[in-house]
Amino acid sequence: MKPWVPIVLLSLFIQTGAPVYASGNADVYSDTESLLPPVQDWSGKSESLVVAANDPWITPAERTGLIATPSYDETMAWLRKLVTATPELEMVSIGRSLQGRDFWMVIASTDRVFTADALKASGKPLLLAHSGIHSGEIDGKDAGLMLLRDMTLAGKRKELLAKANFLFIPILNVDGHERRSPYNRINQRGPAEMGWRTNARNQNLNRDFTKLDTEGVRALIRVLNQWKPDLYLDLHVTDGADYQYDITFGGNGRSGWSPAIGNWIEDVYRPAINAALDESGHVPGELVFAANGMDMKDGFLSWSGDPRFSNGYGDAIHLPAILVENHSLKPYKRRVLGTYVLLAQTLDLLAKEQDSLRLASNTDRQRRPRSIPLGFKRNEVPVTETVSFKGISSERYQGEVSGADVVRWTGEPLDESIPKVFIDVPSVMVEVPAAYIIPAAWSNIAERIALHGIEVEKLSEPLTTSAEIYHLPGAGIAEASAWTPNPFEGHIRINPGDPVKQVIETTFPAGSYRISTDQPLGELLVLMLEPQAPDSFLQWGFFLEIFTRTEYAEAYVLEPLGQKMLENDDELKARFEEKLANDDAFAASSNQRLMWFYERTPFYDDKYLMYPVARIMP
Ligand SMILES: [Zn+2]
Repeated sequence: MKPWVPIVLLSLFIQTGAPVYASGNADVYSDTESLLPPVQDWSGKSESLVVAANDPWITPAERTGLIATPSYDETMAWLRKLVTATPELEMVSIGRSLQGRDFWMVIASTDRVFTADALKASGKPLLLAHSGIHSGEIDGKDAGLMLLRDMTLAGKRKELLAKANFLFIPILNVDGHERRSPYNRINQRGPAEMGWRTNARNQNLNRDFTKLDTEGVRALIRVLNQWKPDLYLDLHVTDGADYQYDITFGGNGRSGWSPAIGNWIEDVYRPAINAALDESGHVPGELVFAANGMDMKDGFLSWSGDPRFSNGYGDAIHLPAILVENHSLKPYKRRVLGTYVLLAQTLDLLAKEQDSLRLASNTDRQRRPRSIPLGFKRNEVPVTETVSFKGISSERYQGEVSGADVVRWTGEPLDESIPKVFIDVPSVMVEVPAAYIIPAAWSNIAERIALHGIEVEKLSEPLTTSAEIYHLPGAGIAEASAWTPNPFEGHIRINPGDPVKQVIETTFPAGSYRISTDQPLGELLVLMLEPQAPDSFLQWGFFLEIFTRTEYAEAYVLEPLGQKMLENDDELKARFEEKLANDDAFAASSNQRLMWFYERTPFYDDKYLMYPVARIMP
């Protein structure tokens, strides 16, 4: 008799949160189709892109009728075979994941040159695209395989590669891709099995573009710096509402950190891609986020991403970056074919619009604004702009489970006019300094900044100068920083409150890091070092040490010290008495009373709550 066995097992389940299915009927979980909104009938010209079943170069996904996607090993084996048979293609590893998988990148060039310098010397525009940063959203991988074949071996679309070069990373989050299951994304129509959103340490790569914790994004940033693509596509699948659009895409808006690029994306890129998708039977749209998080009754948000996201990062570094979000409720086949059309048309457009794109990029890279917004918030002015929207009918009903209103999509196409809410009001504007100084003790911050391709200078001589520093007020008091209750992406996020700026005269010792903002990535630097920027290292919790006070004094020494201070300073005595009279909590706390004096002495820690990064003004 071993009565302890089930008890131990049960406690393991509880501790690990392992699934304990509530229903004995497995159909409840396998028939997700019955839970999803009605599927839209679709046929389109792009269906002819799929090769015949007996084609020797049929892709693994095509072989399934585009309802399933191959594993990492199957994908790379097929690509390796293609690359071996094709002189215009080569594969390179750009890094390795936590679980030891290579991040493979395919280089496609009709000139058969495969180094960054040689591609640059070709004078042709360079497109970089990757799929699977969220590896459950993997449409781009299967579209890319088909396109690489058609542009080379199959000879159907050779003209696309004649005037542009192509870098393609089929899977960025390779470890997440192998956490395959039919149960990973309940709100997505296929493929049959798909990967997981985060990597092997549960980190979301598409929140990592500034802090650079993950191997995947570090590898990608190395590619951006080494290969310098003219345009960058990040291929995703949506969550959220139902509508008619099957492919949605956009940059980071017209009013971000790269306005010339923002305008190019809206005025040049969007019309060309829309036309090609329309032509092929798809329904392209701009990025859609329901304003009320539920349906379109309150319109949709025109989102601007912070630089932790790929499109926000592109905006901050003046790299034309497009976020593609295929609609999760459209079947896999339709989404893959739409992505193929988008990729092909992007290459075609790059060849034609190379000059206008480079002009826009150079314009933004040469910008040196005197002040910049640290982020953007929702425009609360009543929305006046309504736009035509290809929606889907819906109703709301009272949910028995949630006890609240729930939306039910009822499947009728609805061409409506709805509000568009812009997130384009600067949250905080900050004056751009000439440079930042990071003390040698925080070399880890300087190192991460350098990984972005920002020039970092190590002072060989001491530098005496006036500088601005930030004090994060409320020293030692709980409300100094509102600590978020839960870790996020492996970090404790910090709310900096309202930093108080002070001007000091000081000498920075040799070994300190001086980082000029007068460089193309100067704005990204500001967005990583200003306390009030949402993606600053401070807000990501890289400076947690400054929130701990580490020297103390006991009452036996503070009491007589305070007594002496009162005897020697009538004004201090008056302020103390006023505080006692007006602040009952203070009067009742011996600790607070002693601290009040301690803080006013040179014995108190003057580095406590002091942000160690200094600003050198122009
Ligand atoms: Zn995604």
